[in-house]
Amino acid sequence: MSAHRVADAHVDVLWRMLEEGAAFYGDSELRASYDRLRRGGVGTQVFALFVMPNRSSTEQLEKVLACVDLFYRRVVSDGLVMPVRSAEELRQVRARGALAGLLSLEGGGCLRGQPSLLRVLFDLGVRGVGLTWNHANELADGCREPRGAGLTDAGRRVVREMARLGMWLDLAHLSDAGMADALRVTDGPVMASHANARAVFEDGRNLPDEVIREIIARRGWMGLVFEASFVGPVTEASAQDVFRHLDHVLNLGGEDCVGFGSDFDGASHPLPGLSDASDYAAFADALVDRYGRDLAEKILWKNFERFLLEALPER
Ligand SMILES: [Zn+2]
Repeated sequence: MSAHRVADAHVDVLWRMLEEGAAFYGDSELRASYDRLRRGGVGTQVFALFVMPNRSSTEQLEKVLACVDLFYRRVVSDGLVMPVRSAEELRQVRARGALAGLLSLEGGGCLRGQPSLLRVLFDLGVRGVGLTWNHANELADGCREPRGAGLTDAGRRVVREMARLGMWLDLAHLSDAGMADALRVTDGPVMASHANARAVFEDGRNLPDEVIREIIARRGWMGLVFEASFVGPVTEASAQDVFRHLDHVLNLGGEDCVGFGSDFDGASHPLPGLSDASDYAAFADALVDRYGRDLAEKILWKNFERFLLEALPER
């Protein structure tokens, strides 16, 4: 068991459970299995609802709903992992000492541009939405879409409805124009669940400084990602390089707005030294050595806790 508490804003555990039948508890090959999360000290985990977007929107919706079902039936377990849908539930989970589990949609292809489907997902406990994965859908262009367009009319309607309901907007995977549009449209909570700093390593999946500054100005949050190809040159990157991204965000004034979104069980290139959730234990020790306990604790979990308490509906 780690000496430190950790919050992580992005794992693809539910996708692995759905596609491969992986188990969350017990003897599990998942990089973010319950045992590995606990060994790493993780006390807050956002579970992504991800499906491959190259399917029909109906099929995507069916799979998203299957992942929601897996979350409530195979991940939520009284006293071990408790679902968090409000600030009040988060405080209750803290009192119980359980792991706080939250749901966030990664890619809005399943919504078919309809705010009504967004409301249904909200009612099922989904509290964050990333509009796209890497390519375009009915809502916006993703970061790998050559056209590089921003939000569609449907995307704007969905973003406005998210702010009204009390869902956070996740900028990860969105095109630059999409991020700019989304930030113009909403005054609701904004974060980037798993992305690094583009000024440190050039990749369209990483955030330009102007977006990081805007996240900081709005008291949003960004989670640095451990996918090696977003950290540095893919064959050379290691856990040490995460500090370069972290230092950059801190230099931009992000002391209260940065943390981690590992992408465990989703990353194509696991990062040496941070390849599964149990690695958080040693990484947290290194953070304390480098930044001192107070700042390290903010980065490890307090910043995300603050963001959640402000972003989530009160009850
Ligand atoms: Zn992702």
